[in-house]
Amino acid sequence: MSTANHVIVIGAGSTGAALAHDLALRGIHVTVLERAGVASGSTGHNQAQLHSGARYAVNDPESARECIQENWILRRILPEGLELNDGLFVAIDDVGMAYRSKFLEACAECEIPTKELKIAEALSLEPLLNPNILAAIQIPDGVFDPYRLCLSFLATAANHGADIRTFCEVTHINIVNRRVTYRSRITGKDDVLDADAIINAAGPWSAQVADLGGISVAVEPSAGAMITIDQRVCQMVINLLDSPADGDIIVPQRLTSVLGTTSWKVENPDNILVPEESIE
Ligand SMILES: Cc1cc2nc3c(=O)[nH]c(=O)nc-3n(C[C@H](O)[C@H](O)[C@H](O)COP(=O)(O)OP(=O)(O)OC[C@H]3O[C@@H](n4cnc5c(N)ncnc54)[C@H](O)[C@@H]3O)c2cc1C
Repeated sequence: MSTANHVIVIGAGSTGAALAHDLALRGIHVTVLERAGVASGSTGHNQAQLHSGARYAVNDPESARECIQENWILRRILPEGLELNDGLFVAIDDVGMAYRSKFLEACAECEIPTKELKIAEALSLEPLLNPNILAAIQIPDGVFDPYRLCLSFLATAANHGADIRTFCEVTHINIVNRRVTYRSRITGKDDVLDADAIINAAGPWSAQVADLGGISVAVEPSAGAMITIDQRVCQMVINLLDSPADGDIIVPQRLTSVLGTTSWKVENPDNILVPEESIE
C-alpha cells in the first residue's frame, strides 16, 4: 500500500472521523483539520439514534436502504460505540393502524427485518408504554455515543498514521495548487498544508467551506430541538407508527431519555435561534 498520497479531511464529525479511519486503513496519509473539538458540530448534538431505516422506509426507501446497510456495517466494525437495544414502532390510534401494512411492506422491500409483537409482550419489554397501544413492531434500531463513535474512528486513523489537528480552522483553499490555509484557534497562527486531495466533511458548514475554495455548493442545513429528561423511560428506541413528523421518537441515552426531534431550515449554522413552538 502506498503512503505517498496525502488527503486533508476538513471536519471531525462522524463523516470526517469515519473517512479518516477508512482512508488511513487503506494506507493513505490523512490530516484532519477541525475548527473546534471532535464531534463539536451536528454529530455531538443529534439524537444519537442508530437508525434501522424503518422511519424512512415508506417515504424515502433509498435513505432507508442506506441506513440499514450502514447499521449492519457499524455493528460489525464499531460495537463498542453502540447500544444494540433495538426499537419499537407503536400504533396508538387508527391512523397508526392504517399505516401498519404499508410500513411492514416498505420495510420488507428495503430489507429491514421486522417482528410484530403481541401487545402483552411489548408492555412487558417496555412497561411505561401506553397500555392502550394497538400494535408494536420491533426493528433493529439502536443508540450510539456520538463522541465515542468519532474518537474510536480517529483513534484507529491515528494508529495508522493520521494527523488529527483540532482547533484548526480552515480559512482558505487553493483548489488549483491543492493547498489549504488554516488558523490555530489556540495560538492564532496561520499555517499551510499541501495535499493530493481535499475532502469537505464540514456538514452544515459545507457551503461555507466550499466557498473558501471559490466553489458554490447548495446546502440547506436544518436544525432541530430535542428535550432530554433525566430518567430512562424506555430501554428500546420508541417510534410512533405513522408518517415521520416532529417529536415522534424517544431515544434512551444512558440514564436519560431524549425526546424529539423537530426540524426547521437555518441560514447560518453558527446562529441558531430555537423557535418557542418547537419546544412546545
Ligand atoms: C436535530 C437533529 C437530530 C439528528 N438526529 C440524528 C440521529 O438520531 N441519528 C443520526 O444518525 N443522525 C441524526 N442527525 C443527523 C446527523 O447529526 C448528521 O447527519 C451528522 O452529524 C453529520 O455529520 P458530519 O460529520 O457530516 O457534520 P458535523 O458533525 O456537523 O461535522 C462538521 C464539522 O466540520 C467542522 N468545521 C466547519 N467549518 C470548518 C472549518 N472552516 N475548518 C475546520 N473545520 C470546520 C465543524 O466544527 C464540525 O465539527 C440529526 C440531525 C439533527 C439536526
